[in-house]
Amino acid sequence: MENGITKKVIDKAREFMGIHRTGVRLLKIAAKIDSSAMPLGMIQAVFQAVNTYLGLFLMARLIDSLLAGDFSRAFFFGGMTAFTAWLFGMAGTVFSGLQKRSADRFLTGFYIMLRKKALSLDYETMEQPGTADMILRSERTAMMYGGLENIIRVYQGMLENFLISATAVGMTVALCFSRGRAQEGMLAFAAQPAVSALFMALISIAAIWVDARGNKRLEDKKQGFMREHTDVEGKIGYLTRQMLEDYQAGKVIRLYDMKEMLLDNFKKSNDESLAFFRRINAADDHRELFRGSVNSIYMVCIYLLVAVKALAGAITVGAFTQYAGALAKLVKGVQNFSWMNSRLKLCGIYMEDFLKLMDMESRHATGSIPVEKRLDGEYEIAFEDVSFHYPGSEEMVLKHVSCRLNMKDKLALVGKNGAGKTTFIKLLCRLYEPVEGVITLNGIDIRKYREEEYRELFSVVFQDFKLFAFPVWCNLTTGCERQDERIWDCLERVGADSLVKDMPEGLDTVLYKDKEGGVDISGGEAQKLALARALYKDAPFMVLDEPTAALDPVSEAQIYQGFHQMVKDKTSIYISHRMSSCRFCDDIVVFDQGGIAERGSHEELLGRQGLYAEMWNAQAKYYAEEL
Ligand code: ADP
Repeated sequence: MENGITKKVIDKAREFMGIHRTGVRLLKIAAKIDSSAMPLGMIQAVFQAVNTYLGLFLMARLIDSLLAGDFSRAFFFGGMTAFTAWLFGMAGTVFSGLQKRSADRFLTGFYIMLRKKALSLDYETMEQPGTADMILRSERTAMMYGGLENIIRVYQGMLENFLISATAVGMTVALCFSRGRAQEGMLAFAAQPAVSALFMALISIAAIWVDARGNKRLEDKKQGFMREHTDVEGKIGYLTRQMLEDYQAGKVIRLYDMKEMLLDNFKKSNDESLAFFRRINAADDHRELFRGSVNSIYMVCIYLLVAVKALAGAITVGAFTQYAGALAKLVKGVQNFSWMNSRLKLCGIYMEDFLKLMDMESRHATGSIPVEKRLDGEYEIAFEDVSFHYPGSEEMVLKHVSCRLNMKDKLALVGKNGAGKTTFIKLLCRLYEPVEGVITLNGIDIRKYREEEYRELFSVVFQDFKLFAFPVWCNLTTGCERQDERIWDCLERVGADSLVKDMPEGLDTVLYKDKEGGVDISGGEAQKLALARALYKDAPFMVLDEPTAALDPVSEAQIYQGFHQMVKDKTSIYISHRMSSCRFCDDIVVFDQGGIAERGSHEELLGRQGLYAEMWNAQAKYYAEEL
């Protein structure tokens, strides 16, 4: 039995510590956004606690002065009561103004913090199943329970209620030990310090215990609802984005008539969410009703005790109001303190995803060696016995790949679908790291270089390139300085200058119809702009992964013809399924099943009659006239 109770106490203490460990962690995060919010909240808590008792104290003195017929004293206390009410009212207005400003800072700060963290995760971590979903869920759910600002308010409330309860305990002790004039009879017995103390202890403990049990039942129920609710909110967020925000998805939705299906799903999730709120509200209402009944019984007992003390002559009539008010605050303060504690627990649940995200580490540490800036572009990269599999899969996608990228080389990568060409590029750009072997830049393992500086060496156009709903110039400069002459030059080199000239605002035209006044462009036009963006970056390595897949034959021919001019004296790597487009590269690497099967010039490889020749001949049938 004893063991059972000890275990329960230990479990409770552990739970309390756990809640506050999370709480303090969230406070520290909140302090990074607004360091003044917590001190301000604490000052407010003390202020409120003082306000609570000052009013009671002044009112008691006022009543006693009036009853004693001392009107000048009564006038003084009346004036003080009015003055303090005005002073605290003014202070309250100032505090609430500061609090509103702080709430705004929290809102912006929270979103920036979340996005900064998400953007700083490396690509491999970001690509993990569930990461994107977790980021979206943490954004939605963290704000539901008031976000970081709520944590400050909870701790503020805890301090305020602690001060209120502690003062009430002090006053209760003072009241219990005040001795009356009555010497005999029931009244004298009831007014004795030991009897009053016992009575007060019993009713307070009973009221707090009954309330805590009710609270626990409610919170257990709420916690169950809330865990379900975070999932429902995740679903609603996804559906909203697909239906309303992603207008590209709008095409598929309309063509495949998915409207009803999506709306049904949305309605179902929304109904679930509403049902959740109804259940929470009903549970809260029951709780309030129960708490109200407990508190009424408690208040009757308190009035009884204070009245006994007043009748026994232990306290004045004025002090009656003061003590009755203070004692009522004892249980209320403890109840509120415990309620704040449960609120903190719920905040912790809603903040779980956010904290998980904050704890997420990038899989790869960045090195510290700076990358030498060389105007001559003399960078040499080598793959040394590199093998790789994607996270979550054991199958090697690249197997023992060794190759050197010769400087200023025009290298083509060819091979069947799934041979590992794009993966090779991803490793080269350090989006992933080899599982075995090393990739070196000028003889040093690329992991040892500062990641961002290393990536500056590459201009890449992936097959699934992405442009943003920003102005054209912004898409091309990607945060670098805007130089219109250079932008036009790059546009001209990829044959997109007339496209942009014809846009309503030229370089300032916003792409895509996400924004008002934005223009839609075709896949081929977008690919040209993506190529221009790569040129604008002007990095020593130019990597083009199927750069002409979406282009019409004329544009494709233009790109091929201008390719040498386009990449000039850079080292370029070119992936294409169109064998004819690789012909003008000096060096061709043939990938097969994750390894390098052949390497050489077009003529050498044809002469070898291997995989390259096989692929070439297979395509030659379809493009006979072109070849
Ligand atoms: P290629 O560019 O030659 O067509 P890829 O490098 O894209 O080939 O793909 C090589 C293999 O790696 C394929 O089997 C593909 O399914 C697999 N793969 C590609 N990307 C991923 C990924 N993100 N996660 C898991 N497997 C992948």
